[in-house]
Amino acid sequence: MLDTQVDIAELERAFSSGVYTKRDVQVVGGQGARLTDAAGRTYIDCVSGHGATNLGHGHPAIVKAIQQQAATLIHCPEMFLNATRAHYQAALCAAAGMGRVFLCNSGAEAIEGALKIARLLTGRPRIIAAMRGFHGRTFGALSVTWQPAYRDPFEPLLPEIVHVPFNALEPLAAALNGTVAAVLIEPVQGEGGVIPAQDGYLREVQALCRANGSLLILDEVQTGFGRTGWLFAHQREGVQPDLLCLAKSMANGLPLGAVLLAEGLGPLPPGVHGSTFGGNPVACAAGLAVLDVLQSQQPDLIARARALGEAVLAHLREHLPSTTVREVRGQGFMIGVELRGKVAPALAALQERGVLALPAGRTVLRLLPPLVISEEDLWTAIATVEEVLSDAPGSL
Ligand SMILES: *Cc1c(COP(=O)(O)O)cnc(C)c1O
Repeated sequence: MLDTQVDIAELERAFSSGVYTKRDVQVVGGQGARLTDAAGRTYIDCVSGHGATNLGHGHPAIVKAIQQQAATLIHCPEMFLNATRAHYQAALCAAAGMGRVFLCNSGAEAIEGALKIARLLTGRPRIIAAMRGFHGRTFGALSVTWQPAYRDPFEPLLPEIVHVPFNALEPLAAALNGTVAAVLIEPVQGEGGVIPAQDGYLREVQALCRANGSLLILDEVQTGFGRTGWLFAHQREGVQPDLLCLAKSMANGLPLGAVLLAEGLGPLPPGVHGSTFGGNPVACAAGLAVLDVLQSQQPDLIARARALGEAVLAHLREHLPSTTVREVRGQGFMIGVELRGKVAPALAALQERGVLALPAGRTVLRLLPPLVISEEDLWTAIATVEEVLSDAPGSL
């Protein structure tokens, strides 16, 4: 077993592009909120594949849907009709309260689509996005992403992009004018440090957009599908986006992304956009199963994440020492702990103790447990976080 692990690590080092910092865990399988490595050790998974597996690993409804559709038809471009896709599009629009959907394969691709659609529908060039926002790595998505470290090596990016402070209305109001096609916001900033929109902010942003004739684009790539304790985070505030970008947990781990258009927007002219794999029946079958689980089979999962998430936040706020921790933030099962120092040593210490977690920037510890995690595993993970962060800062 140990030999296999050495070989795999070397193979990855030799042949993979190098853009990912690799962790020394060779994952061979997963069930629910547990991952198993090649040495047979199990971990509590608070990564959920970067938020792409909200229903956990090996969920029987997802596995069955994928197997059945794969045996029937794997690929079918959107130029042909397909029942699985048709049912999925209808179910997704109903779930999100939107009118139409363009299907693609990733979050960045959903953002690219939304940027094009916003320009097309308004005839205006400019996009306003938020400081600390993250929207993906392709050129358009990178242009609206704020973090200079992601952007700087790839300049020049798209023109006509303006970044304003998140959770602040005056700078946004000042930046809005007749050239602004859209305002693009994450309801809870993920990669930027797990920063929730303040109460009322999204509604005010919506009102400002409407008054200016600009579209509101919500990026719910990470916050969607139950992550924040709502099917979609904007539903907490009763906000109606004009365009809604989704991906990550849409198909619980298969590549699937979407741009949804509000009722009354579109249809778009034929030929203005497209994707070879977009709307493929296997991803759509998995997407249908995700909605079925969240809405019919296990409808309590989302409210449970909301309640348990609140309990976890309260517990961490009470028990984490202010000597190592600056702030605890989050919504539902999207939990961030801002440290006074770097997060990397804490992540390593957690992994050593059998808990896998994520960073969000250099100083924020991010926990994205699957919605299906048992209470026992959840509180074990939280106790481990406490243990790791209660050590004197010098020992980390
Ligand atoms: C992950 C993420 C993206 C990019 O998604 P990819 O599928 O990696 O391209 C975009 N927006 C947000 C909010 C994300 O969290």
